[in-house]
Amino acid sequence: MRKYLIAGNWKMHKTVKEAKEFFENFLRKLKEKTVDREIMIAPPFTCLFACAEAVKGTPVSLGAQNACWEPKGAFTGEISPEMLKEFEVKYVIIGHSERRHIFGETDEIINKRVKGVFSAGLVPVLCVGETLEEREAGKTFDVVKTQLEEGLRGISGVSGETLVIAYEPVWAIGTGKTATPLQAQEVHQFIREKLKELFGEVADSIRILYGGSVKPENAGSILEQPDIDGVLVGGASLDPEKFYDIYTAGT
Ligand code: PEP
Repeated sequence: MRKYLIAGNWKMHKTVKEAKEFFENFLRKLKEKTVDREIMIAPPFTCLFACAEAVKGTPVSLGAQNACWEPKGAFTGEISPEMLKEFEVKYVIIGHSERRHIFGETDEIINKRVKGVFSAGLVPVLCVGETLEEREAGKTFDVVKTQLEEGLRGISGVSGETLVIAYEPVWAIGTGKTATPLQAQEVHQFIREKLKELFGEVADSIRILYGGSVKPENAGSILEQPDIDGVLVGGASLDPEKFYDIYTAGT
């Protein structure tokens, strides 16, 4: 019922030339074998035009790594959901831990972004997750609960097609440390219960992705967990072979 979403976040990596090379290799592998999972790649904004051309007619959807809440205006340095739609972008990652912790985005800003993306008809991928300090202090569930409640404040009428959540423990992002499948499942189950409180039974159709040092070697055991509906992959999504192996992991 929930189709896995295998998502790549390229962060601030790849020029247009490198993005085209990635797709040449990745799409060649997809031609050999596809599985019944959805694929999303979120390149830097500067590569969106080239990536939109590359993925036309393929099973790959495009994502963006952030978006403003307004359609246009005096917002230097921002990109609007309307602009992203020109490149067939479907998903927008919001509240990634790097936005929260390096650029100081608050739950309030993140909520504005989620609302802007949602009302423009794009699918927000709202990222939540605790730091190591918070985990060690036993605050994981409190942190995730607040990030969900605040990030989704004022949102209603969601479905499995219009909202995605990504649980990304900050201590596991880009560190090589991965939450064990059971550690991740425990938080995913908590997130699903929270989504049920907020939105009712539709929560059973909302995909909750795990992110944090996902690689071909650990993707299969992570995806086996009942409340894990896909992965959000940083580093390993830059390599077409590794990303393909994650896409097919466990099949
Ligand atoms: C991410 O950027 O969302 C991420 C999970 O990164 P990595 O896979 O490199 O840990």
